[in-house]
Amino acid sequence: MDPDSVNGDSVGGDSVDTGSADGGFADGGVLTTAFFVAWFDDIAKQVRLQRERLTALDAAIGDADHGTNLDRGFTEVSKALTDSPPTSPGQALLSAGTTLIRRVGGASGPLYGSAFRAMGKAVEAPVTLAGFAAAFDAGVVAVEQLGKAVPGDKTMVDALVPAARTLALAVRDGVGVREAFELAARAAEEGARTTIPLRARKGRASYLGERSIGHEDPGAASSALIVASLATVAAAAS
Ligand code: ADP
Ligand code: MG
Repeated sequence: MDPDSVNGDSVGGDSVDTGSADGGFADGGVLTTAFFVAWFDDIAKQVRLQRERLTALDAAIGDADHGTNLDRGFTEVSKALTDSPPTSPGQALLSAGTTLIRRVGGASGPLYGSAFRAMGKAVEAPVTLAGFAAAFDAGVVAVEQLGKAVPGDKTMVDALVPAARTLALAVRDGVGVREAFELAARAAEEGARTTIPLRARKGRASYLGERSIGHEDPGAASSALIVASLATVAAAAS
């Protein structure tokens, strides 16, 4: 599905049909299947736009394939969601995760793939912010279990953990969906920046030892992008 048509027809700012089955939000801030499809379409779009930046970050401390890896993977995710439209948020997430595991070589494919699959198993429709936050946390736990990285190891975990924590706090404080995603996006972005002075302890960058210091981790940067897409799609939804 063309991301613009999703934004325009289903979750665009002009639509007033917020309660319809194919809207971005149903009444009460429930995240519909269309919201998840629009999220993946926006990720694909942003990864394409930032492919060179992600690859340049990976060139500095890895093997210069992160942008191309994710571009190929998320393009395939959007294609799979168009070819076999999901009928639930869980199905959309499982489909995306499976596609990433199959199509992305490198560490990030299995890690992101497992994260989205864990989210897909954890969500139950109707997906409220609380349900989303719990599922997102399950996704982060899946990354931590598979990659054995903890915060401070200079990986995607450094962006994902603050985002999960921020979502949980937003739920506790009764913050609305749009604002919660905006706050999570900022937390992930900040988390990605905190990787710059760190020495990598996991993944390919760890082979560089001290020389990994002074560069932003590419996976943390792409995680920030993925969380930012949540905020973008929520802001566009009416
Ligand atoms: P590869 O390193 O195999 O070339 P990518 O370049 O696509 O794979 O992804 C690199 C990113 O994957 C890193 O920047 C880091 O954020 C993440 N990563 C690598 N290993 C781990 C791990 N064990 N746990 C968490 N994230 C990891
Ligand atoms: Mg790489």
